[in-house]
Amino acid sequence: MLYATALRCRECQREYPLEPIHVCEFCFGPLEVAYDYDAIRRDISREAIERGPASLWRYAQLLPVDAEYRIDLQAGFTPLLRADNLARKLGLRELYLKNDCVNPTWSFKDRPVAIAGSRARQFGFTTLACASTGNLANSVAAHAAKAEMESYVFIPSDLEAGKILGSAIYDPNLVAVDGNYDDVNRLCAELGDKYKWAFVNINMRPYYAEGSKTLGFEVAEQLGWRTPDHCVVPVASGSLFTKIYKGFTELQKVGLIGEIHTRMSVAQAEGCAPVVTAFREHSFNFRPVKPKTIAKSLAIGNPADGYYALKQLAETGGAATAVTDAEIIDGMKLLAETEGIFAETAGGTTVAALRHLVEEGAIHPNEVTVAFITGAGLKTQEAVADHVISPLHIAPTIESFEKRLLERRRDAPAYGAVAEAAG
Ligand SMILES: *Cc1c(COP(=O)(O)O)cnc(C)c1O
Ligand SMILES: [Zn+2]
Repeated sequence: MLYATALRCRECQREYPLEPIHVCEFCFGPLEVAYDYDAIRRDISREAIERGPASLWRYAQLLPVDAEYRIDLQAGFTPLLRADNLARKLGLRELYLKNDCVNPTWSFKDRPVAIAGSRARQFGFTTLACASTGNLANSVAAHAAKAEMESYVFIPSDLEAGKILGSAIYDPNLVAVDGNYDDVNRLCAELGDKYKWAFVNINMRPYYAEGSKTLGFEVAEQLGWRTPDHCVVPVASGSLFTKIYKGFTELQKVGLIGEIHTRMSVAQAEGCAPVVTAFREHSFNFRPVKPKTIAKSLAIGNPADGYYALKQLAETGGAATAVTDAEIIDGMKLLAETEGIFAETAGGTTVAALRHLVEEGAIHPNEVTVAFITGAGLKTQEAVADHVISPLHIAPTIESFEKRLLERRRDAPAYGAVAEAAG
């Protein structure tokens, strides 16, 4: 049984049936899935959720898909890790990392695709498609493979090797477009008028967005059914940022958590920071930019949900900050060295932004803070390849080992301690 009742315009509140549409015909506002929250409140409980599957399907009542249409790669229910080492470095008391690197295709995009893909199947589509900055393409290709659907995934041609291979392995129709994401997205909007495909982030966008809110559900559940004081979220289109908060508010509407006092803060790269720039100018209207950053998964210069992200920033009392490419690399290394998580450039952006926000006083040391680590580092090896140690190359003898160790000790004093221990 489905508790989703309609699509509703975020601006004029007009309702539409649950169909593969995404804009209001009257005011061109974006459509969102509406639910019968009273019915859900009667039927849902913390205990039933806790007994459910270890995936985002544990929140089925708050998702717009009937069970028999699920494309189930077990996306979601990823670890929320207490990060005391990193917290100490940054000067925070209670910091958690939501580690979405460990999803089926190694990014949080498996959440929106699980929902949009499954709902597309329920609508009777046989082809999944997307305009992607890389991770979405990986996830669409994988979910289409699992569902035995066709897929067309469109990416900018300058993506990292890991993101291209990470799609190609599932054998989709993989199309590299000469242009940036905003060009790819415009092309896909035109293709969507011509072909009867389910573009997960265009005509299926209302359903896509529902997947991201499960991050909010999980964080609240994993904190013992309460929301944190502060969230730091990497922003590209802004969908993830706004939907995490929608997750919190829905849990409250159905009676599973109490009051929400969460401040939502934005992390972007300086080379693509339209939301941060508008925030600094106290404006709700961002100016589109031409992206230039190593954080390619965040390189959207004209963010579809930028306006709503800015509204949410203001309403929750959050902050926004942009970081340089060098800081992104440092952030990736810091996260790996302190907490054992190898995240992609978006994760480096989040950690570097977290550091800024603490230093600026935008995050108070006593705030219970959650940083969202949204994708895995093996996909963006180019970013850090020249910034990490190379192996100590030796012959298979103790003599060679100790000789090389001493040589390296002379070159890099940091290795002194290891050399000492080796005698
Ligand atoms: C897509 C993506 C984001 C941002 O998501 P939006 O909903 O477009 O803001 C963040 N991190 C990673 C790794 C992504 O792939
Ligand atoms: Zn409308």
